[in-house]
Amino acid sequence: MTKLRITGDYNMAYRPTVVGVDKAGSNEKDGLYEYVLHLEDGTMCRTFYNRFPEGWRMTHVSRLLKTPCPICRKDYICNCFEKFKGELDAQMKDGRVEELLA
Ligand SMILES: [Zn+2]
Repeated sequence: MTKLRITGDYNMAYRPTVVGVDKAGSNEKDGLYEYVLHLEDGTMCRTFYNRFPEGWRMTHVSRLLKTPCPICRKDYICNCFEKFKGELDAQMKDGRVEELLA
């Protein structure tokens, strides 16, 4: 039998759920947009989108430091949400990010 050592990887079971989005800024000419995402657990993330050259693409995500990280529990900067860029991006697109610009 192989004994498994607990590495903390179980935290990967965390899945963020976007429940709201605020548009925080934009540069229409360059196709750059900044949003604040509100997650179900109260965490807020700042994200940046670039719509050029190949359409809406999340380029960066970071947790706002208002609440401790739900993944690593740090209350200072961490990169945990980088791992969920794809997931958050998919949820933003399900919510039709284009419509937020109207
Ligand atoms: Zn973290």
